[in-house]
Amino acid sequence: MPIKTKSFGLFHPDCRFTDDSALTVAIAQAIHDQKHYAASIRAIGRRYPDAGYGGFFMRWLFSNGGAYNSFGNGAAMRVSPVGFAFNTQEKVLKEAAKTAEIPHNQPEGIKGAQATSLAVFLARTGYDKEQIRQEVSSRFHYNLNRSLENRQTILSNLLQCLFECKCLKHLSSTFIPNLKHAVTLKLIMKTKNQYLDILKEKTSIALKQMESCALCPRECRTDRLKDETGVCRTGRHAVVAHFSPHHGEENCLVGRGGSGTIFFSNCNLLCNFCQNYDISHLSSGGPVTAEELSAMMLKLQNMGCENINVVTPSHVVPQMLEALLHAREHGLTCAIVYNSSGYDKVETLQLLEGIVDIYMPDFKFWSSSFAGRTAHAPDYPERARRAVREMNRQVGDLVLNERGIATKGLLVRHLVMPNHLSETRKIMRFLMNDISKETAVNVMGQYRPCGKAYEMPDLRYRLSANEYQNALNITREEGVTRFV
Ligand code: SF4
Repeated sequence: MPIKTKSFGLFHPDCRFTDDSALTVAIAQAIHDQKHYAASIRAIGRRYPDAGYGGFFMRWLFSNGGAYNSFGNGAAMRVSPVGFAFNTQEKVLKEAAKTAEIPHNQPEGIKGAQATSLAVFLARTGYDKEQIRQEVSSRFHYNLNRSLENRQTILSNLLQCLFECKCLKHLSSTFIPNLKHAVTLKLIMKTKNQYLDILKEKTSIALKQMESCALCPRECRTDRLKDETGVCRTGRHAVVAHFSPHHGEENCLVGRGGSGTIFFSNCNLLCNFCQNYDISHLSSGGPVTAEELSAMMLKLQNMGCENINVVTPSHVVPQMLEALLHAREHGLTCAIVYNSSGYDKVETLQLLEGIVDIYMPDFKFWSSSFAGRTAHAPDYPERARRAVREMNRQVGDLVLNERGIATKGLLVRHLVMPNHLSETRKIMRFLMNDISKETAVNVMGQYRPCGKAYEMPDLRYRLSANEYQNALNITREEGVTRFV
């Protein structure tokens, strides 16, 4: 979500001057030619109508009307020539107010223009940074003691850039990095707001779909908003079996603080050998509201978890989004791991684009008959293929940070089934040929007969060490190199 780099060029070859530059020239020209500020702003503004003005300003520019009560920061952004041109503080403040009164006649706009021009004037006449900070903050009641991170306005950001410079005579060495820092912070703020808007929209689309639920391949068409249930036996609210930091997940998810797992009860796939049978089939746990689910996410983050790992989320995507929105608004920054059975619908996954950081689907069965017999889902193999393609399209191969922690990407789990190693081979071949040679894979050897597996002659045995070794050999033969 956030943009955290300061390594960008300030001046890209495609850069061009903007509205604030054009109007700064207009102010300088008005002073030089001793013209009225409004006339000069209109003359230059109309000559460069595509410089990026706001809508109200454009209307003012091409009218002959007076001020329009703007709350914007434009007055402060164009006023710098006043600080250079006049020789007393009184004159600077008076002229700054005049430049701001048209078209920005709001007191805050005038104050911003006066503060900026005074800072320029003081710097020009030999005041040091501390004296400027004190003068500007005492005269205009700005709090200029907060760090860049805690500032909300461009004006205070720019002033802080100046104050954080080591020396006013060597601005380029310190002002430019500070300015880049301010730009980064502004981008983070903007990006965060855009992210929340998108998340809000996706949440409302997903919730609406619960009216006639076809969120997963089962397409039950029940009205879950009225608490009706389908195959997944989950109505309006998600049911959580338990949540905790988990140190038994893949190393790249665990790190120092563990993976913040939230186990959703019930499941849309319902394999009869499920290794978490009590959770998936027996509905352990209780329903939670979005706020409660969000509180779990935040608690896991506060406990130091490396990520939020939603386990078996395919049937509760809307509830998960609803909670995530709440959690992000309240400070959740952890990466989100979508840890599913692979029985996902592409349309639902598309709602998660830009929201989920790490996809960790199982790829369980290759043959339709095996999937039909064990999970009543003969379409599982095709659904899983499409889902994994979509996941890879969204996040690409698994990316680890300098601590070896996954930050983004796809990690496919495959539970090796006794007597079915040919499934393993076909799944690995698909991953290598259709997804990516760099696909990260966890070949899991912990199969034991659970639930109703004893009713199935081929699945009533534990996986032998020999079979597991064979599965690993097959996986390597098919070209997998990234084992996690
Ligand atoms: S999410 Fe549940 S109710 Fe909706 S289609 Fe899937 S199994 Fe049916």
